Amino acid sequence: MPPSFLPMKKVFIQTYGCQMNLADSEEMFTHLSARGYIRTDNLDEADAVLINTCTVRDHAEHKAVSFLGRLAAWKRENPARRIIFAGCAAERLGKSLQKKYPFLDILSGAKSIEHFSDTLNESGLFPPQTAQGEMLPPGLTGYVTIMRGCNFACTYCIVPSVRGPIKCLPHEEILQEVRRKVAAGAKEIMLLGQTVNAYQDGDVSFADLLNRTSQIPGVVRVGFTSPHPIYFTPQFLTAVKDNPKISRHLHLPAQSGSTKVLQEMKRGYTREILLEKIKALQAAGFFISTDLIVGFPTETAEDFEQTLSLVEEANFTTAYCYKYSPRQGTPAARMKLHSQEILEQRLENLLNKVRGLAERAYQAQTGTLQEVLFETPGKGRSSGGFWVKVSAPHPVGSVAQVTVEKAVGTLLFARENK
Ligand code: SF4
Repeated sequence: MPPSFLPMKKVFIQTYGCQMNLADSEEMFTHLSARGYIRTDNLDEADAVLINTCTVRDHAEHKAVSFLGRLAAWKRENPARRIIFAGCAAERLGKSLQKKYPFLDILSGAKSIEHFSDTLNESGLFPPQTAQGEMLPPGLTGYVTIMRGCNFACTYCIVPSVRGPIKCLPHEEILQEVRRKVAAGAKEIMLLGQTVNAYQDGDVSFADLLNRTSQIPGVVRVGFTSPHPIYFTPQFLTAVKDNPKISRHLHLPAQSGSTKVLQEMKRGYTREILLEKIKALQAAGFFISTDLIVGFPTETAEDFEQTLSLVEEANFTTAYCYKYSPRQGTPAARMKLHSQEILEQRLENLLNKVRGLAERAYQAQTGTLQEVLFETPGKGRSSGGFWVKVSAPHPVGSVAQVTVEKAVGTLLFARENK
């Protein structure tokens, strides 16, 4: 709670997009809390609204802007109310938004999130900071941003232009944040970055950071998202292989199975390199889910076949499949699009191929020993990211060693090891 000498104000937070955006919203809330704000889920009683936005897909940006538009009446009811529009869409749309929505008080783009406190001060619209900011309770998983931006320039992606090049946070600051999350109740820590495994701070590598995070008392498991294939090196695997606290589930976006398309996407790897990395990670015990795009403008029917065959060869635990959609301002947006019919057909074919992957991955867990971190009294996740049900109840946040007896769909049934 903020100190009692401050008049208590309330902020309503609306976040769109990925886990990094959720973590950014938490960080921005801390600065508002230091100025006397507490969180509310009731817009009508709020004194301020923070909209943290995503621009990766047109749809997400559109939702954020239309929510902003709907706040016109809310602001008219009480002009002292404050509206902050932050994040990736704020960066992309810039000042044009303030022209269109003159009632918007603060625009804070994704590149300026680390200066959010200064932005509040400079606006003169918020009380000065008078306390150490509180953070939102983290729940079982504490999300910690370790880097911002991306050094790639994938031709379909808007992220580099709205978030800029990589900036790694100092490792001491990250470990301090992990301690704060654990003290507030988190058991699992999820390290976040656009290409999270590119992290380097002086001589502290990403693997070092994972190991140091796992050594903090109270940390049960450490995960990370989203990695990029090229940053997985044999040194990484050697450095993490004996650390059971590092989650064995990885979400590794592959995007295509065709080397030609991967090059046109500027992904920085070929199909062969991708498969080599995947096999090495799987041999080290990692279970890999992925993202795949169908219908990139230059994708031929043969290229698409390569994506289908990648699914067979890579042994993913699951794959999230998307139709290509152009993002204004990216190089690929200038290319000729496939017809909707081709996009739909390829998506359907890929979904048919992907269907059943998860069930097979669950079946393959039968008979294995697993450590379960309980998210409800009867159910938790294994290190590989599989859902496990255990008959005897366990406190949320505790761990148990179990043997998997059977898999039904996407749920494992297990008995506790004595
Ligand atoms: S690696 Fe590519 S897809 Fe991922 S954020 Fe960077 S530019 Fe975008």
